Amino acid sequence: MTAKVIDGKAFAANVRAQVAEHVARLKAEHGLTPGLAVVLVGEDPASKVYVKNKHASTIEVGMASFEHRLPAETSEAELLALIDKLNADPSVHGILVQLPLPGHLNSELVINRIDPAKDVDGFHISNVGLLGTGQKSMVPCTPLGCLMMLRDHHGKLAGLNAVVVGRSNIVGKPMAQLLLGDSCTVTIAHSRTKDLAEVCKRADILVAAVGRPEMITGDMVKPGATVIDVGINRIERDGKGKLVGDVHYDSAAAVAGAITPVPGGVGPMTIACLLANTLTACCRANGLAEPEGLTA
Ligand code: NDP
Repeated sequence: MTAKVIDGKAFAANVRAQVAEHVARLKAEHGLTPGLAVVLVGEDPASKVYVKNKHASTIEVGMASFEHRLPAETSEAELLALIDKLNADPSVHGILVQLPLPGHLNSELVINRIDPAKDVDGFHISNVGLLGTGQKSMVPCTPLGCLMMLRDHHGKLAGLNAVVVGRSNIVGKPMAQLLLGDSCTVTIAHSRTKDLAEVCKRADILVAAVGRPEMITGDMVKPGATVIDVGINRIERDGKGKLVGDVHYDSAAAVAGAITPVPGGVGPMTIACLLANTLTACCRANGLAEPEGLTA
């Protein structure tokens, strides 16, 4: 079997187009422009690239983008004061603090200062609790993107066996909650899981969020399964830098029914879902119907 390739790039372009259409309608019918504020503290080169991309994508869909670049030595009090200001600003519907923060800043404290209704990353403890109890929340962008692709591929997910490898707060755990919300039978595997290959082989849906290049190989995949590769790993191969996932693509694609590539799979969905979340936050803040198909 050769797996169907789930094209995350095309899927994300479609999500962004849907968001842009909703944004245009919000402007025309309600005079509203969804606004996303991104806060970057320090000079981390990767974070700077992410923030630049987020700014460009936000503008592209017709939203307002508010960038706040603060020096690395910014104090916690200064950062919290900025978040308070953004929380109170009605033109800001989504707030994202780019992680990681410099070491002297307490990320948990900072994230939990964001108004949960504006927490478009879905990391605030209230949103974590709401998701865990099956209530309406802001959902972390990467797992939301995975869920959208899975729903599109499978239609209904109910009753399928899903295995999520990885239990981080930003990917593994919320992914598992979302799959449970769609009535999958969910197993979460991690570094202490015994016989990982056997556990993975039971999965109709296998999500890899490990951070270990090409760790999930074809012999760990059930024939016909859907494989979602969240991993982004930079490796050296044949003297060149290369981006690979947590899944060994060639061997897994030979067995799976469908698979996301790296790059061009889950990655592009993350920013698309950030925009979708900002739109959702704007609709909720104004008592308007949420955009269909763009939320969990
Ligand atoms: P973390 O490092 O926070 O979590 C990794 C998880 O993998 C942990 O739960 C860990 O288990 C588990 N793990 C590590 N080694 C093994 C092993 N040998 N067998 C089974 N499980 C193992 O990573 P993240 O969740 O933040 O990210 C995971 C990957 O996804 C990374 O490659 C990251 O770059 C990528 N990513 C991609 C995004 C995108 O936009 N596409 C967004 C976010 C992340 P334990 O808890 O026991 O230590």
